[in-house]
Amino acid sequence: MSLRNEVAGEACVALGADQRRFDAYPTRELHLGELAIRRALPIREHRLVGPWCFLDRFGPLSFSASKPMDVAPHPHIGLQTVSWLLEGEIAHDDSLGSTAVLRPGGVNVMTAGDGIAHAEQTPRDHTGKLNGVQLWTALPDAVRRGAAGFAHVGEVPIVESAGGLARVFAGRLAEARLDQPYFSPLLGADLQVHAGATLTLPLDPAFEHAVLVLQGDAALDGQPLAADTMYYLGCTRSSMDVASRAGARVLVIGGPPFPETILMWWNFVARTPEELAAARADWEARQRFGEVRAYQGARLDAPPLTKVVRPNPVS
Ligand code: MN
Repeated sequence: MSLRNEVAGEACVALGADQRRFDAYPTRELHLGELAIRRALPIREHRLVGPWCFLDRFGPLSFSASKPMDVAPHPHIGLQTVSWLLEGEIAHDDSLGSTAVLRPGGVNVMTAGDGIAHAEQTPRDHTGKLNGVQLWTALPDAVRRGAAGFAHVGEVPIVESAGGLARVFAGRLAEARLDQPYFSPLLGADLQVHAGATLTLPLDPAFEHAVLVLQGDAALDGQPLAADTMYYLGCTRSSMDVASRAGARVLVIGGPPFPETILMWWNFVARTPEELAAARADWEARQRFGEVRAYQGARLDAPPLTKVVRPNPVS
């Protein structure tokens, strides 16, 4: 199979020393069943931002009779899925028997380890809204073959300041901490900038960072940020000023440049093509991953391995 998905551990890219304060990468539209999503990561130029190797944006959307999210059981290895909502609900069920309904303010973190399967869907009891993101972290080699797990945090820590607040769903920002259940130094936060205000946040200069506007209008260091665009900020930044005229929500992710080479295919993060092929074969043979018994309906089949040219994760 192709090795084009290989990601070498990268050195820190320092922006800001010249005119270039950040680089812009438009997201691309894809569909997960009926649900339109915009994928921000991976991109060719930055397959990873810290340990973050995947970022999908879905919504905002309103619905009544339909069920916008219905992702049937599918497997994962070598990563964590991190789900975060601005509005709406997602019901999670996995092959460990974990079940949880995610709502705004909380975070679901599923650790795949050597293998897990899960399903994600709009629950029967819902508000008729869906608006959020799903991210993945690549697990470090030392822990990636470990046990699978699932964590639901009902209310993540919040940092408040004059210009707004930051909901920290991964890692550390100012005095907020959500270290468990993560396995790398990292940052994942949803910034809420008040209308007419500027939110100033400290950043770890050893981290590389990226931002994505989720809602409203925002400017970073005085430069307006476009919608549906991921901005890569490089590293060596020790602070960030985000301003808004009418109010905004802005996602910020970061971490030290991931020091390992990874290989991504479908819903798997591994190190060798053989590991990917073995995981695919085990899913097709109904081995290793277990069954998502709470889901009514058929599971997803793995795509043919021969067609691998680009990462194509399900969710
Ligand atoms: Mn998934």
